[in-house]
Amino acid sequence: MPAPNIDTIVSLAKRRGFVFPSSEVYGGLGSAWDYGPLGVELCNNVKQSWWRWLVYERDDIEGIDSSIILNRLVWQYSGHEATFHDPLVDCRECKSRMRADKLEGYFPEDDHKAGFDANARLRAGLVKCAECGSTNLTDERHFNMMFRTTLGAAADENDPAALAYLRPETAQGIFINFLNVQTTMRRKIPFGIAQVGKSFRNEITPGNFILRTREFEQMEMEYFVKPDAEHLKLVDEWVELYLEWFKGLGIDAANLQLHEVPKEELAHYSKRTVDIMYRYFPERPEEERQWEELMGIAYRTDFDLRSHSSKPVDAEGNRVNPDSTEDLSYFDEPTKQRFYPHVIEPAAGVNRTVLAVLMDAYSERTNDKGETRVILKLSPQLAPIKAAILPLAKNKPEIVGMAKAIKRSLQPVLRAVYDDTGGIGKLYARQDEIGTPMCVTVDHQSLEDEAVTVRDRDTWEQERVKVSDLAEHLQKRLKPYPNPELV
Ligand code: ATP
Repeated sequence: MPAPNIDTIVSLAKRRGFVFPSSEVYGGLGSAWDYGPLGVELCNNVKQSWWRWLVYERDDIEGIDSSIILNRLVWQYSGHEATFHDPLVDCRECKSRMRADKLEGYFPEDDHKAGFDANARLRAGLVKCAECGSTNLTDERHFNMMFRTTLGAAADENDPAALAYLRPETAQGIFINFLNVQTTMRRKIPFGIAQVGKSFRNEITPGNFILRTREFEQMEMEYFVKPDAEHLKLVDEWVELYLEWFKGLGIDAANLQLHEVPKEELAHYSKRTVDIMYRYFPERPEEERQWEELMGIAYRTDFDLRSHSSKPVDAEGNRVNPDSTEDLSYFDEPTKQRFYPHVIEPAAGVNRTVLAVLMDAYSERTNDKGETRVILKLSPQLAPIKAAILPLAKNKPEIVGMAKAIKRSLQPVLRAVYDDTGGIGKLYARQDEIGTPMCVTVDHQSLEDEAVTVRDRDTWEQERVKVSDLAEHLQKRLKPYPNPELV
């Protein structure tokens, strides 16, 4: 049973230290969130799982970490300065400001969307305000979503020479380093470059908790291949691989869906994009409104490498990019051909993955006393804490000493915590709610038989394990991918 809605996760996340509203002491900052002690662990575990899967387990992908602030020319030649904008409208009735293409009635019903006149539709009263339902909306205006800043202490705020942007995607840092990585790592295509890091977009209507924020984290990978019409099919291959990865994180396939992005809605660089959608809004009665993008897999062609290269020329023979000092082409030894590799890009959000994982892991269970308990059935690889070591009596120094020693001995092997801040029932309930797969209880008998009780989060079953076997026993239960018995 996944969470019934996002609000259930918002309150669990705040109550248990996963995610807090940011800047709360000053009344908050719209749609900004801070990750608490458990949230940061969960994010790190998602990122680590992704990095291990792509960079360590495969032999054809390298990792990098590029700057957040890049030369402004990167964004000029990538096309972001000119085209990275969303249509914005205001409601004349309730004064809300909204992203127009998310409103009911914006797109024509039939499939002939190409070249439709959005302002004609707005003026004809076909588009509805998301807040008050009025159709009294302004014409749309294009709003560039890149955050602007100026570089240097003496820079005048309006000095175009000092203008810089916070990156709206991590991908460009990969493209401009294509040659550096390819030559230093002696790579031949096909190969990929992966990067995880923060991106920033001045979203018109952020919201729905960590689903859409202005500062977020992306896990992007650019996979470089030989130009070939067949490579459009590689999109499907990567879709399948990512579906398996998400399922491996514990997400139920029934809550994942594919969306082939219609041609008219493709980003300027994409020839084909398939989005993997997650059911973030199970409470909505209409099935088609339950889904939102979890990630996208785009076929970016050679658009970016070519745009950043010094050599390509236009029809008149003028250099397309007179500012670049490099040619980011690739020489294929076997065929003796030089070309710009094409790119398949799986781009996923850390925060949207974390939200999907939390929603899918949420479950409730009623105990013998008729009390309902929340159990977060996180895949063990993602659980912020793998084992909690609990003393049955906190006023008994021998028991406390033994529990603390067990915690210390486990820590090099797995993330363990010691907790004595309540009665055992309360401690179990707290660990269930934060997704700790196992609790280890030290009791009076432990002092005599050198054994402890290991309690399973999902079944609440208990077994007695010798302290000398404990690390191995726990590790077996913490396989890198979900143990079918535990999920
Ligand atoms: P949307 O249509 O939802 O605005 P997008 O198609 O513009 O998303 P991409 O540019 O494909 O998103 O970015 C890749 C991934 O980065 C998204 O699938 C999502 O997981 C994440 N992402 C993008 N924008 C945001 C945001 N504002 N907040 C949180 N995550 C985001």
